[in-house]
Amino acid sequence: MNKYIPVIGLEVHIELSTVSKMFCSCSALHFAKEPNTQVCPTCLGLPGAMPYPNKIAIKDVLKFGLATNSKVNKFSKFDRKHYMYPDLPKSYQISQYDLPFCINGKISLKSGKTINLRRIHLEEDTAKLQHYEDETGQYSLIDFNRSGVALCEMVTEPDFENVDDVIEFLKEIQLIVRYLGISQADMEKGSMRLEANLSLRPEKDSILPDYKIELKNINSFRFLEKALNYEIQRQADLLNKGVKVAQETRGFDQLKNTTFSQRIKEEAQDYRYFPEPDIPPFRFEDKFIFVIKSEIGEMPQEKRVRFANDYKIPQNYIEVLLSDKKRSEYFDKLAELDKKYSIGLNTIANLMVNKNLDQEYPEPELFIKKLLEITKKDYSTTDENTNAVYEVLHEFPKAVSDYNSGKGAVIGFLVGMVQKKLGGKGNPKVITDMLILNLKSPK
Ligand SMILES: [Zn+2]
Repeated sequence: MNKYIPVIGLEVHIELSTVSKMFCSCSALHFAKEPNTQVCPTCLGLPGAMPYPNKIAIKDVLKFGLATNSKVNKFSKFDRKHYMYPDLPKSYQISQYDLPFCINGKISLKSGKTINLRRIHLEEDTAKLQHYEDETGQYSLIDFNRSGVALCEMVTEPDFENVDDVIEFLKEIQLIVRYLGISQADMEKGSMRLEANLSLRPEKDSILPDYKIELKNINSFRFLEKALNYEIQRQADLLNKGVKVAQETRGFDQLKNTTFSQRIKEEAQDYRYFPEPDIPPFRFEDKFIFVIKSEIGEMPQEKRVRFANDYKIPQNYIEVLLSDKKRSEYFDKLAELDKKYSIGLNTIANLMVNKNLDQEYPEPELFIKKLLEITKKDYSTTDENTNAVYEVLHEFPKAVSDYNSGKGAVIGFLVGMVQKKLGGKGNPKVITDMLILNLKSPK
């Protein structure tokens, strides 16, 4: 029995959440819409219709490229990719061939391994075929609402050697896309679609195998994981028997947890690419790229490091909070508020992650209030409060005079000082009231 190392590469399609389609002004929000209601001569591929590129979609792809450490091709263009299929009315797709918008990106995994991104390009989505069967037989209908929606395609180098890395990478890509706000990257709705190519090489052999299997139409990370694991075993069994693995496209059977042959690939298809004559090429200026780069904001990887360094909460909490950009921002607000209340970030993170308390309280201030109620039994006694307030009012005469001269905001500082003396156990409302009462009638 030989030992084999998997050689895996990925193609990820991401449907951009632009308002209009890639080359016309039809609405791009096609999910669950009445079929063929969002169409025009351009996205129906009628003769003479002219494509007009969507600038937002181009910026989104450049943003995605820059966020994944890619190089932007300052000179770029669209090309026609020819093939015949009912979901493609023009019989060509406007895509990008030799000058994609972005190339040579890099994503680091937690293990330290780097995955190289060969390219990220922009193209138009196809129409959607719906298959039916009734007493007249089988038939298919075409919904063109999706035809012409902006679609971003990312292709990796075959750098993956195990399935866990593939899944970690894809989840990170999904997170980056969501942080950038360029797509929902929702697998169930088809706004993120996965394809993997896989072959095995003997452990002692560093040359890439002379075949590859393409896994297509897989709509969840879990199914992709199962399909890859099944394929690795299937190919190893064949190779051990001395059988050559056929170059083919395979699908995944969700009921049997197996892969099955869809199409044998005898030779590479010739798409007869040529430059799209109706759209002039692009020249991006440095300033244009600079502006896009400055709009990117904090990416998950940077946030991961900041949360660990600044908040010192456990890694599993960090991952849960990061997985939703809004939640991670909510936690940032709580951390800021907690400087005043000193409840403790571990307690706060725990209540968010394990009790979803943030779902009940959309306002961070109310969350903290609730938290203080929960921990009420730990509140300091009236005597302790009185002593602490008395001491603070005498230790900070400047703050007291500031307050009396109308600087009401200084109360926050005084509450913080009292809390410090009480080890954070004071009821903020009680302390605030007590401070105000004493400030109004200075001793
Ligand atoms: Zn249209």
